[in-house]
Amino acid sequence: MLHGGAGEMDHVKNEKDAAPYLAGLRAYLERGREILQTGGSALDAVETCTALLEDDPLFNAGRGAALNERGRVELDAGIMDGRGLNAGAVAQITNIANPVRLARRVMAESGHVLLAGAGAAQFAASQGVESVPDGYLITERRLEQYEKARAEKTPERDQSHGTVGAVARDRSGDLAAATSTGGLVCKKPGRIGDSPLIGAGVYADNRTCAVSATGRGEDFMRTVLAKYIADLIEFNRLDAASASQKAMEYLDKRVNGRGGVIVIDKEGCCSARFNTRTMIHGWIEQGRAATVIWTGPSA
Ligand code: ASP
Repeated sequence: MLHGGAGEMDHVKNEKDAAPYLAGLRAYLERGREILQTGGSALDAVETCTALLEDDPLFNAGRGAALNERGRVELDAGIMDGRGLNAGAVAQITNIANPVRLARRVMAESGHVLLAGAGAAQFAASQGVESVPDGYLITERRLEQYEKARAEKTPERDQSHGTVGAVARDRSGDLAAATSTGGLVCKKPGRIGDSPLIGAGVYADNRTCAVSATGRGEDFMRTVLAKYIADLIEFNRLDAASASQKAMEYLDKRVNGRGGVIVIDKEGCCSARFNTRTMIHGWIEQGRAATVIWTGPSA
């Protein structure tokens, strides 16, 4: 199950505008299916699908990420393996094409969970991860959005769309989740969102579910929303659909939060909930694929 961000997407008004987003999502879902069908792990599937979304300039992660107040890219990403609560994350990443892959290396190689800024860059270099120039990550469309947001001074409405994420369950029943983002348009330099924070924007536990969140990160941090969904499943015995519904109500009620979540539970049931106008997402459940940008399936 994948998402390409929750938000207002004022520029997407009809099926035709939505088509390029949905085409990308469908292709990446199929890549995920292939990995899982050939015996790959849920962790491999979420890492690869998230990296593909990062490479796609339409989405706010990796190439084509939103720009901060100073017109720079600062990327955040997190990944979690539901088998043993292992997790890795990176924040304030500047010249790396695939922060999700770096997050996985943090999990596997660093002995830590979260590395940020210069330390994360040093770790990337020590792992032989190549850096990319600013010109690779910054696209024309994002520069225009940045200029417009600065001119209007209140980028709030169009601000919160973006972020990509994946959740998966493999043949062995193992769960994994990943989230990657450029964050909010015109965010302050140094601002870190919910995406790399375990339990806020990403979470996976084989006992319950895997979650990837998108929306105003501060709202998800304050409510620790991804872990809240897992707790609802574990302690209140809810399924993915009711837990995600209840969590979105909680987000709204407690902090007037905006955004959405994708969830897969340990039985493989998929659920997506959002309270923004759109959330680009898609899933494969019992072999059938669907992609959605606002409320109705398009395939
Ligand atoms: N959650 C992301 C952040 O706050 C943004 C988004 O999902 O659009 O960094």
